[in-house]
Amino acid sequence: MKVTGLYCYNCEKFIYSRSRHDMVACDCYSINKELSVSIDGGQSDYVKVSTGSKSNYKFLQVEMKDITEEDLINDWRYENNNYGFIYNLNINRAILEYIGGITKKKLEHLSYYIGICRNSSVAQWNKKENKFIYMRNKMGNYFVDKINHPEDDDGYDLFIPIKKISSPYSLLPKELNNKRASELFPKKNKDN
Ligand SMILES: [Zn+2]
Repeated sequence: MKVTGLYCYNCEKFIYSRSRHDMVACDCYSINKELSVSIDGGQSDYVKVSTGSKSNYKFLQVEMKDITEEDLINDWRYENNNYGFIYNLNINRAILEYIGGITKKKLEHLSYYIGICRNSSVAQWNKKENKFIYMRNKMGNYFVDKINHPEDDDGYDLFIPIKKISSPYSLLPKELNNKRASELFPKKNKDN
């Protein structure tokens, strides 16, 4: 099932409530409540979020394989406490899955993708470079630039791949696909 919860950027822990009366707080809570977040209400009843003045968090749904809501409720009821949090969540990958983007594992070498970044909406994935390659226009000049996938966030702009396209040419009308300029604009016979 998909669990709804909060990721705390201060302690890097994802937390979610397992049942109606399960109040779960992040690790900041016992150290400094102003940094912390907590969530209550279970997965189907209601959502109550409490934050401090310095909380830094992201609301998120994360897929938990082979887990049912009953498992979560029983985990809380019998105090097994195996669930209710995730350490080591790759937060950018989780956000990417949440918004319907393509994770790095599913990218294909040299394929083109429509996506989101500051300077282009199409980029080509290059596995060897571990980067997207795209054409960038700066002050009227075009040049080739490289940009990271969200899972390799380096603090600079990222390309967020949303959908694979067979090639940029697939965006052209069919009748113009793979045409050469010389076919479309035949040269005059020099002898005339
Ligand atoms: Zn925290």
